[in-house]
Amino acid sequence: MKEDYYDILGISKGASEAEIKKAYRKMALKYHPDKNPDDSSAEEKFKKAAEAYEVLSNADKKARYDQFGHQAFNGGGGGGFGGGGMNMDDIFSQFGDIFGGGFGGGGGFSGFGGGGRQRVVKGSNLRIRVTLSLEDVANGVEKKIKVKRKIQAPGTTYKTCTTCNGAGQVTRVTNTILGRMQTSAACPTCGGAGQSIDKKPSDADEHGLKVSEETVTVKIPAGVVDGMQLKVTGKGNDAPGNGIAGDLLVAIQEEDHPTLKREGDNLHYDMYVSLPDAVLGNSKEIDTVTGKVRIKIEPGVQSGKILRLRGKGIPSINGYGKGDLLVHVNVWTPKTLNKKQKAFFESMKEDEHFVPKPESTDKSFFEKVKDMFS
Ligand SMILES: [Zn+2]
Repeated sequence: MKEDYYDILGISKGASEAEIKKAYRKMALKYHPDKNPDDSSAEEKFKKAAEAYEVLSNADKKARYDQFGHQAFNGGGGGGFGGGGMNMDDIFSQFGDIFGGGFGGGGGFSGFGGGGRQRVVKGSNLRIRVTLSLEDVANGVEKKIKVKRKIQAPGTTYKTCTTCNGAGQVTRVTNTILGRMQTSAACPTCGGAGQSIDKKPSDADEHGLKVSEETVTVKIPAGVVDGMQLKVTGKGNDAPGNGIAGDLLVAIQEEDHPTLKREGDNLHYDMYVSLPDAVLGNSKEIDTVTGKVRIKIEPGVQSGKILRLRGKGIPSINGYGKGDLLVHVNVWTPKTLNKKQKAFFESMKEDEHFVPKPESTDKSFFEKVKDMFS
């Protein structure tokens, strides 16, 4: 029989979110492997508490657990949580939320493999900004970007760090609200890598890194939004020693288009139609994100009419569907007329064809607005 999650944390079924968090925090601190070295029963309790918290801290999972118990997560009959329990990396990545990153030096725990406690050191991230035209946003684009990133200088060799003897961490005793606690922090000498530089070429910095200009290809999917950030894994700075490279973070900046305006996945275009074209009908070329398109102007078109070109907008970033292009008709009324033209309009003043008669087929203003948002 699998132990009840509420029992594990020592709380009742009606426990609030705060109580669940508090109970877990207490258990995690009590059974933390750093406080109980080589105590496998403590580690077991630590894992169980993390598993219980993982479920009870998530409203959706908690609801399923409350209704079905452990059966809720036993899909396919495989025993255990998610098919094999949480590993230590999962548990420690959960810590950032609960301990606010202040636990053991900024949530830097990782890798409990084989008794060693070496931290995987990650190089720093690089940030760049990419400006895209609306056409790029609509169609997706591959950008080749020159990036100055720090790479491991060839010829650099490493030796075991003498400060931490290769452990990557130093132990520190701190006073917390729960009493004196032994915590581990990254070694200040090697930054947690467990190694320090033995030999390095003259052009390398103190970490054995040097700046290199590289061209990175960034695939930008269609539908990105201004301010969005894309991640190119491993294209940031290399880590000192045997760490893993940081990431390249690409911030999207969208250029204004001269004639098209974006609103979510829809586009808007203001089309100006001359009075004769509005009266007699014509066709007109308009801009779209995939090139020019000729559209028909029906005789007698009214100012304010919106023509919807389905699917001529921006593809949705999640891959489902496309927005529309909404063409707003604006009939251009001349401001100056010569004598002959003026006389013509004077003579039409009483003509019944020039008297406004909103037809039943013309949509009201509110219907148009509704249309735009549907
Ligand atoms: Zn060290």
